[in-house]
Amino acid sequence: METTFDYIIAGAGCAGLSLAYALSNSILKDKKLLIVDLSHQKTNDRTWCYWTKAASNFPEIVYKSWSNLAFIDDQGKVQSAIAPYRYEMIRGIDFYQFVYQQLEQQDNVHLLEGRINNIDASAEKAWIDVNGQRFFADRIFDSCFNFSQLQSSANNNYHFQLQHFLGWTITTDESVFAEDTATLMDFRTPQKGNARFFYVLPISERKALVEYTIFSSNLLNKSDYQEALKTYIHEQIGQVDYQIEEEEYGIIPMTDVPFPVVSQKRIIPLGIRANAAKPSTGYAFLNIQQQVKEIVEQLIKGSEQITTKSSRSRYQFYDSLLLHILEEEGHVSASIFGQLFHRNKMKTILRFLSEQTHLWEEALIFSQLPKLPFLKALYQIKLNNRNVTNSTKVLSSQNQQA
Ligand SMILES: Cc1cc2nc3c(=O)[nH]c(=O)nc-3n(C[C@H](O)[C@H](O)[C@H](O)COP(=O)(O)OP(=O)(O)OC[C@H]3O[C@@H](n4cnc5c(N)ncnc54)[C@H](O)[C@@H]3O)c2cc1C
Repeated sequence: METTFDYIIAGAGCAGLSLAYALSNSILKDKKLLIVDLSHQKTNDRTWCYWTKAASNFPEIVYKSWSNLAFIDDQGKVQSAIAPYRYEMIRGIDFYQFVYQQLEQQDNVHLLEGRINNIDASAEKAWIDVNGQRFFADRIFDSCFNFSQLQSSANNNYHFQLQHFLGWTITTDESVFAEDTATLMDFRTPQKGNARFFYVLPISERKALVEYTIFSSNLLNKSDYQEALKTYIHEQIGQVDYQIEEEEYGIIPMTDVPFPVVSQKRIIPLGIRANAAKPSTGYAFLNIQQQVKEIVEQLIKGSEQITTKSSRSRYQFYDSLLLHILEEEGHVSASIFGQLFHRNKMKTILRFLSEQTHLWEEALIFSQLPKLPFLKALYQIKLNNRNVTNSTKVLSSQNQQA
């Protein structure tokens, strides 16, 4: 196999494959490209959902789209049409197959399976070590992120929570789901000191992805997620017979640890590794698409230094406040989400979470929330001199995956 390429993409997950797809649809499509991952044999390991009012980046593979969103807790249900937004779902397997099918038609694109042991660069070249072999390129796009390294770099200066979930795609014997409404959060479950809720995405009246999600620093045993799912389905969805078609398990970092957002000239971080996951929600899919767009535009322009935009600092501050509350006072999380959804319009919340609100709207949103936890969080962050914003750090070569 050749060892010198124009570009190497390290990690063929959402970000790596989104970049490969965008490159293959651009004037850079003939660049010699190597894509490395532990495995290119992808399974349906995740579903991506997001809200948008723009045209979809992948219209061919949108599996389901909802025009209404709901929020439920002990105070009741809020349900609302979200036009001009749509809430869309793309299944992992459809995404992987779609992108690989396009890439297979290009002789200049090479796939390699193996563990990446090191990525580094000199002034002239970047290189990557895979299975004891070295490959060179002008630029390497690195989307491999290391959970434990990230967690250890959080130390006392930053917040680090986990969004962890187990979901079942179930089919029921009777029609029980409202097909046009996705439930973002249903808090009708014991909170046990954390934020715990169910996420329900109906595919049809008899089929839905039901996910038990927790924001906390510790994972549960698999059986705990499964028991909670069984109870929720029985108590809230209905006493129906159901079959489990698929299971989805995931952990997403919720953190304000500074990821590198400014790259070295030749090694460009990408995806979750480059701050794509919003700290307070874990949503990353659209941020990844935005990163990829910015990267391809800069490559086409011939920019030496590739940068991707980070959140504006006031949103980083809001995210840190929420993370602090989740970390220190998880027991009040449900009431914060409750007041957020009961007292604000769904579309305003979506705009806020998309970081598109005006300052006065944010002031209004915060005025509706319980004051004490936020004041305490503010005081404790200041007192302990904890960081509340991501810095723009240059990725060092020591920061690579082990
Ligand atoms: C189950 C699940 C569901 C999610 N749902 C949503 C959602 O609904 N909406 C949303 O916006 N976000 C969601 N996310 C968050 C985020 O969108 C995804 O995690 C997304 O896949 C991140 O893309 P990425 O490319 O940064 O990382 P990944 O997709 O995880 O890709 C990283 C790739 O790097 C490879 N890799 C890592 N280390 C090495 C190594 N040393 N050598 C070789 N290869 C390596 C991995 O095999 C992997 O393929 C979800 C996450 C999970 C886990």
